[in-house]
Amino acid sequence: MIKPDAVQDNHIGGITKMMEEAGFRVVAMKKTRLTEERAGKFYEVHKERPFYGDLVNYMSSGPIVAMILEKENAVVDFRKLIGATNPAQAEEGTIRKIYAKSMEANAVHGSDSDENAQIEGDFFFSADERF
Ligand code: ADP
Ligand code: MG
Repeated sequence: MIKPDAVQDNHIGGITKMMEEAGFRVVAMKKTRLTEERAGKFYEVHKERPFYGDLVNYMSSGPIVAMILEKENAVVDFRKLIGATNPAQAEEGTIRKIYAKSMEANAVHGSDSDENAQIEGDFFFSADERF
């Protein structure tokens, strides 16, 4: 997912280009906006964390771009491409190093396991939206 700050700042193209150049194929892509309820559901695993309320507000504050990406070893390689959650700790050349503004507004989301990639893909896309 390309998060609200990066969409607002016109970085959809720049970020998607980095993904494609790193070998990811776009299987599905959609610009949409999460309601607070949907953002809360997406980040339900973080419900007990102190940043959860702010995160839900932020993630529903403007449009996002949801994608399903495909590649060998996709989850691990995508986490490498996006860099650390905190952009101050993200390596040079990573998407978050280049585009993230803060720990919260960190430009992109990436699934943390194959199982969650399946769940999160299903959260946004039906079968006839994937090619
Ligand atoms: P990641 O997105 O790298 O998998 P997490 O799953 O730990 O990171 O957290 C989900 C999202 O919650 C982060 O991408 C970030 O937007 C936000 N977040 C995480 N930790 C913090 C924090 N300490 N303060 C503010 N926001 C945070
Ligand atoms: Mg995570």
